[in-house]
Amino acid sequence: MQITAEHVIKFIETVGARIKEQRDYLTQLDSAIGDADHGVNLDRGFTTVLSKLTSVADKDIGSILKTVGTTLVSTVGGASGPLYGTAFLRAGMATADRFELGPDDLVAALEAALEGIQTRGKSTRGEKTMIDAIGPGVDALKAACAAGDDFVNALRKSVAACEEGMKATIPMLATKGRASYLGERSIGHQDPGATSAHLIARALLEVVEGIHQ
Ligand code: ADP
Ligand code: MG
Repeated sequence: MQITAEHVIKFIETVGARIKEQRDYLTQLDSAIGDADHGVNLDRGFTTVLSKLTSVADKDIGSILKTVGTTLVSTVGGASGPLYGTAFLRAGMATADRFELGPDDLVAALEAALEGIQTRGKSTRGEKTMIDAIGPGVDALKAACAAGDDFVNALRKSVAACEEGMKATIPMLATKGRASYLGERSIGHQDPGATSAHLIARALLEVVEGIHQ
């Protein structure tokens, strides 16, 4: 099984829809340890992204993802816009001119995205950020693909690891982003960015499960 450019479009549409549904929840998480705008920020960004999708509908996967990245960088205020924007841009660079992706190509694209976020955010795992959900998700995907799992099973394991990583942010002390201003008071709250990262991973699984049926 391969992920096609059409599936990537479907994935972005699904992310947009799920973010809209969870906008208030994401914002509520950000009100506890940030400035209560994470859901609003991402919803604004993806609403603009969705309005641009028809213009890239017949393009290669790299072009689609780069359009998502540049749109997020230019429309989402706050930390998450440049960070998710960089992630999509890097994934787009890793998939330039491609119309289909196999499991290893997806792993390479996600590794590039993760590295992009870490470089831009000067962040590592354990700092209570989106990295704490994305990192374990990429690791699990890579391990499952190396073990020969099919796409759906590998992505299920990846989403499960991502969810575990998201929940593991609750007891963490934030040392990056706005939540770090709270110091010890950041402990006991789930990170909004780790939560949106899990939501995005779930959207990819949802699309790939749909292809498989
Ligand atoms: P802002 O904090 O500027 O209001 P958002 O609320 O949209 O931006 O996004 C906050 C999320 O961004 C956090 O929950 C965290 O996951 C993520 N984040 C913030 N700073 C960093 C960083 N340096 N590296 C990785 N992720 C970060
Ligand atoms: Mg915020």
